[in-house]
Amino acid sequence: MEFSLIERIRERTAQGREDVRIGIGDDAAVLILPTGQEQVVAIDTMVEGVHFPPGTSSADIGWKALAVNLSDLAAMGASPAWALLALTMPHADVDFVDGFAEGFAELARPYRLALVGGDTTRGALTVSVAVHGFAPPGKTLTRAAARVGDAILVTGTLGDAAAGLYCLQHAVEASSHRDYLVGRLNRPAPRVAAGMALRDIAHACIDVSDGLLADLGHICIASGVGAEIEAGLLPHSSAMLSLFGDTTARDFALSGGDDYELCFTVPAAHVAEAMADLARMGCGATRIGRVVEGQGVQVRDAQGQWLDTSRRGWEHFSR
Ligand code: ADP
Ligand code: MG
Repeated sequence: MEFSLIERIRERTAQGREDVRIGIGDDAAVLILPTGQEQVVAIDTMVEGVHFPPGTSSADIGWKALAVNLSDLAAMGASPAWALLALTMPHADVDFVDGFAEGFAELARPYRLALVGGDTTRGALTVSVAVHGFAPPGKTLTRAAARVGDAILVTGTLGDAAAGLYCLQHAVEASSHRDYLVGRLNRPAPRVAAGMALRDIAHACIDVSDGLLADLGHICIASGVGAEIEAGLLPHSSAMLSLFGDTTARDFALSGGDDYELCFTVPAAHVAEAMADLARMGCGATRIGRVVEGQGVQVRDAQGQWLDTSRRGWEHFSR
């Protein structure tokens, strides 16, 4: 694809990092690895109509394509450094590329993350971003480290992105609450600092991309444990509670994807410390349940009744 498009991306994402010996412009990037660190890498692809609705602005697509990847690094407790971008689009659209690069750069800038290369091709709108980060040896957070007796916590609030998608799809009347929820869908804020802070205190960790039930379920399988969640403890945003009833808010929080909050487990004795560590960086966290023997995620409602999370319709809100 045209050199000028790549040049526009390069200009907008420029980030003077000394560990980038050769960035965009040669056949491959040459990067200087920090000594004494492990490298943590992830890649995620977003396809129009599957991972973001048609009509999403180019800047939001650029932001989100990076955000979902930074969220994967956050879930491992890694600090981000470099990214690669494979951009496929139907035709060489300068306005799209400019908007995309600006949205991408807006999120990359505070992390000093450098875009060091990529590929640009023609085809259905598809964006793949690969990220590289670092963590001290053996310190990464995994899905497999939950232990029976751990408390289960989540950062922020849950279900907002799914509620935002609902607002778009059902033409919910304009309001600041609607804008907040749609913003949570289009501009998720990856919990990078929180993930790094949790390295020394959390056991297992995952980012909530497919919905709490699904993602906590991954922790359970990887760790060989079960989980009990109290639905009454699930954190909801005020925007969610203003626009939706309690039951709908609960279902969004349990099954809605795309929030990119962290779900993690902590020894019960360290819950207060973990919450204080996160609060210091402006990240709220809520205890929502505990790790138990057995398998699968069980949810108790506010009256103490177990919910049937396998019934049809629970997948309704997730992708
Ligand atoms: P090649 O044919 O050698 O792969 P390209 O024309 O695909 O060369 O890429 C030229 C340079 O631009 C390379 O350094 C590549 O990493 C970079 N590049 C291409 N597309 C992108 C993109 N979408 N984002 C960032 N860098 C890109
Ligand atoms: Mg190429």
